[in-house]
Amino acid sequence: MATNLIEISKNYNTQLKCLKLLENIRWGKVVKCPNCGSNETRNAKGEMGRHACRKCLKTFSVFSDTIFEDTRLSLPKWFMAIAIFLNGKGGVSAKELQRSLGTTYKTSYYLLMRLRVGMLLPETKLHGILEMDESYFGGKPRKRNLPDNVPILARVDNKRGRGTKKISVAGIVERKGSVKVKVIEKLSKRNLLNMIKNAVIEDDSVLITDEFKSYKNLSEYIEHLQVNHSKAYSKGLTHTNTIEGFWSYVKNGIKGSYKAISRKYLPFYLIEYEWHYNHRNDNSQFMSFLKNAMFQEKELLYWKAESKEQVTKVAYD
Ligand SMILES: [Zn+2]
Repeated sequence: MATNLIEISKNYNTQLKCLKLLENIRWGKVVKCPNCGSNETRNAKGEMGRHACRKCLKTFSVFSDTIFEDTRLSLPKWFMAIAIFLNGKGGVSAKELQRSLGTTYKTSYYLLMRLRVGMLLPETKLHGILEMDESYFGGKPRKRNLPDNVPILARVDNKRGRGTKKISVAGIVERKGSVKVKVIEKLSKRNLLNMIKNAVIEDDSVLITDEFKSYKNLSEYIEHLQVNHSKAYSKGLTHTNTIEGFWSYVKNGIKGSYKAISRKYLPFYLIEYEWHYNHRNDNSQFMSFLKNAMFQEKELLYWKAESKEQVTKVAYD
């Protein structure tokens, strides 16, 4: 469902209105110190939205430990960026965002990476009729303007499928439900099985795959049906069309919006497409995003640990 940009820009046109919304999502009525957990706080002097803890004496804001941390961009601009990003089902490039917001390319690039972190969904388990399949991302680097030594994942299908040096990604989708994807370096039976164990309620599910050898003998763990691609494309319910559709959606999106993605950042883009797919029927995606994004501490720390140099290296288009 589309997020209404006009409505967002009308309702959240000042820093204060946006701050109030974020505070409400994070703390409800009573502000709580993220450092010691005390709810004895007061407004700190100076910066709007800054609070001081009466117990540990530290100051903080609703931005602390979130994707908004240390931002210099105004919140109304953040909110516009979020709305644009949520509406861009196939992806939004830093160039596009730069044009829409009037920010620099670098700011737009960082903003988009933070928004992807905000899209990382909490662990939930899939069940029901499930399809599992793998896909391969990457290809030869494009010739123009590519720095040396940067592993490039240009989305070029020069060599297809299993046994290539591309990055393998496994995915499980619930029919009419959610999808989960994961970069898996080696598509061994053990690795695929681990993914199933983490992502699926096994007692309550039927798993449909093709006849790839790593899926052999899965029926010891889960009810398992295999599609024979050489005989028939689909036989009634036994098909993997849903997950294959998801892969084309991701690949077309990457090709259309991003052209090339570095190996290292592929997981962030996968998070983005996973979000879009899993929220395709969400009527209040904007709020869902903020609610999800306000609680991404750990992932953000991971993101921050990445050096700025590495980020700018892939920031070309
Ligand atoms: Zn405190």
